[in-house]
Amino acid sequence: DDIEEEETDEITKKIEALPIQDVSDFKEDQREHVNIVFIGHVDAGKSTISGRIMVLTGQIDSHTLAKYEREAKENHRESWLYAFVMDTNEEERAKGKTVEVGRAHFETEKRRYTILDAPGHKNYVPNMISGAAQADVGILVVSSKKGEFEAGVDGGQTIEHARLAKMIGIKHLIVLVNKMDEPTVNWSKARYDEICEKITGHLKKCGFNPKKDFQFVPGSGYTSANIKDTVSKELCPWNTGVSLIETLDLLPQFERNESGALRVPIIDSFKDRGIVHVMGKVESGSITLGQQIFIMPGKTKVEVLSLSNESCNFRTGRTGENLRIGLKGIDDEQIRQGSILSEIVRQVPVVTEIEAIIVLIDLPKDKQLFTADYEAMFHAHTAVEECKIKSLIATIDMKTGNELKQKPTFARNGESIKARVVLSRAVCLEEFTSNPQLSRFTLRQSNKTIAFGKVVNVGKKVKEQL
Ligand code: GDP
Repeated sequence: DDIEEEETDEITKKIEALPIQDVSDFKEDQREHVNIVFIGHVDAGKSTISGRIMVLTGQIDSHTLAKYEREAKENHRESWLYAFVMDTNEEERAKGKTVEVGRAHFETEKRRYTILDAPGHKNYVPNMISGAAQADVGILVVSSKKGEFEAGVDGGQTIEHARLAKMIGIKHLIVLVNKMDEPTVNWSKARYDEICEKITGHLKKCGFNPKKDFQFVPGSGYTSANIKDTVSKELCPWNTGVSLIETLDLLPQFERNESGALRVPIIDSFKDRGIVHVMGKVESGSITLGQQIFIMPGKTKVEVLSLSNESCNFRTGRTGENLRIGLKGIDDEQIRQGSILSEIVRQVPVVTEIEAIIVLIDLPKDKQLFTADYEAMFHAHTAVEECKIKSLIATIDMKTGNELKQKPTFARNGESIKARVVLSRAVCLEEFTSNPQLSRFTLRQSNKTIAFGKVVNVGKKVKEQL
C-alpha cells in the first residue's frame, strides 16, 4: 500500500509540476482542430504551399523557411517540413526515434490546423498512408503547368494519392490547382477549367461525390496568390471562390466519434527526461490526465501523465486532437509500429484473421489473378504486416455492395471481392461499422499499392495474457 501511495504521490507531483497555465486557455479555445494532409504528384508544389501557409499565418518568417528549405535540399529530403521538424524536435530526437511523419501547426480565427507531411515520391506511399490516415481533409495539389499536369495524372501519383485518400477515409478534398502564375498558364480560365473537368472525372471514379466531397481552388504557392487572401480581380477576373485558407475555414464541421472508445494509433515515440512520450491523433473517444489505458497489442497498462501539442497542455484530449502523450509504466522499446492506445473497458480487438472487402486496383503484370494464397504487405493505420489470402468469399458489386458470385476461384483488377485474410502477426483492427478509421487498409507489393480494403469482420480475437 505504501509503495502505491508513494507512486501516486509521485504522479501527483509530476502532474502538478506540469505547466498547466494554458489549460484555461484551452477551455476557452473552442476552435475546432483540423488535420490536413497535402497529397499529389512530386513537384506539384505541396512543400511550397505548406511553407507559404506557415509564413502567411505568422508561424515562421520567410528567412527561417528559406533556411529549412536549404537544409532539406542539402539532406536530400523532399520537404522543408522535415528540416523544420528536425529542428524543432532536436532535443526529442536526440533522445529517441526519428520522426516519420512531419507536422506543423497554424491557426486562423476560426480553426486550429495541423499539417501532416506526406512526401510525393513513389517510395514514400507508406508514409503517405500514415500521414493521411490521421487527416480530416486532403489538399490535392496539381500543377497547372503545361506537361506537368499531364505527367502527374497519366501514370503519376495524383490519382493514386486521391484513391488512397478516399480509401483511408478522407472525406473531403480541396484540389489546389497550383502554379497558375506559370508563363504557360498565366491564370488562364481555359486551362483551369480543363484541369477541373479532368480531375472531376478521376475523383468521381475514386468514389468522391462532386456535389459535396471536393472543390477547386486556383492558386500559386510561389507568389502566394489565393493562398491566404483571395486573388485580386485584376489577376484573376473569372475567380468566383475564396482563397485556400478561407476555403479551409469554411468547410463544414467535421464528424467526430466523441462517444466512441478511446483509440490513438501511435505514429511516433520518444523519451524525454525518463518519461516515454507518444504522438498520435485521437481517432475516437477522449483521453484524460491520470487515466489508465492499455497499449495494444500487448495489453501494457499505462497511466497518462501529460497531454500536449506544440502550443498548450491539456487536461482532456478530445477526438480529432493531435497529441503528444506522456505515459507512465512503459519503456519506449515496448512500442512498435502499429501500437494503439486503447480504453481498458472497450479494448481494441487484436486479430490475426479478418474478413474484408478488397478492391483490386493494380495487380502486377505477372500476377494478374487474385486467388487464395495470394501474398502481400498489409498496411493499416501505422501497422505493417505480411498477409495471405485464405479464401475468396464472394465478388461484390461496388455500387450496391451486394454479393454477386459466391466462392469465385479468382478476381482481377477493377473487381471488388470479399475475402478472408490471414496476418502473419496480430494487428489492432476494428470493423468498418464500429470504427472506420481502424478498419481501413491497403495491400502493397514491391512498393506499389495493389488493393484497398476495409475490415468487415474481425472474426476471432487473439487472446492476450495480462
Ligand atoms: P512538392 O514535391 O509537391 O512538394 O513540390 P515543391 O513544393 O517542392 O515544388 C516543386 C517545384 O515547383 C519547385 O521548384 C517550386 O519552386 C516550384 N513551384 C511550386 N509552386 C509553384 C508555383 O505556384 N508557381 C511556380 N511557377 N512554381 C512553383
